[in-house]
Amino acid sequence: MKIENILLHTCCAPCSAAIIEWLLANGIRPTIFYFNPNIFPLAEYEKRKSECTRYAHLLGLEIIDGDYDHAQWLKGICGLEEQPERGERCMQCFKMRLLATAKCARLRGFKQFATTLASSRWKSLEQLSQAGQWAAAQVDGVTFWDKNWRKGGLSERRKILIQEHGFYNQSYCGCEFSQ
Ligand code: SF4
Repeated sequence: MKIENILLHTCCAPCSAAIIEWLLANGIRPTIFYFNPNIFPLAEYEKRKSECTRYAHLLGLEIIDGDYDHAQWLKGICGLEEQPERGERCMQCFKMRLLATAKCARLRGFKQFATTLASSRWKSLEQLSQAGQWAAAQVDGVTFWDKNWRKGGLSERRKILIQEHGFYNQSYCGCEFSQ
């Protein structure tokens, strides 16, 4: 599959930096989509968004600012609050974020979308793959690039870039149930 440009859903700077660097080195100039209404509280959301924006601007990349509607996100995971991480709440959370990404990709004329969520070893690759494929199936004309971002030295590069750029590195996934 030849990839020239993609819409890249990003969750935070630490998870995104090495992936974006790799994409650019491989001739792919991504447009960043920041859509993470799961993050709580608002101050934490702003902090993570600001770090992603700082990195995107440093590289001259466009960053699309998605909506932050945490109340709506809570409705989406209603009944799953007590689920453990990697359980059904996370699956639903991934689906919501990736569906919004697929819709934005369609609107902006991208054929492919991907997410940096899978770079974290705390997340289930299988869940993310399923959620991405599911989101792509809901929207005509877009496909999910299901790449394993933990390979090819990206995990090691991630640590170096966090240090190099002094990124804020959060200690929990994002929602109040993971705090
Ligand atoms: S733990 Fe993380 S992935 Fe799971 S629901 Fe909360 S924010 Fe979403």
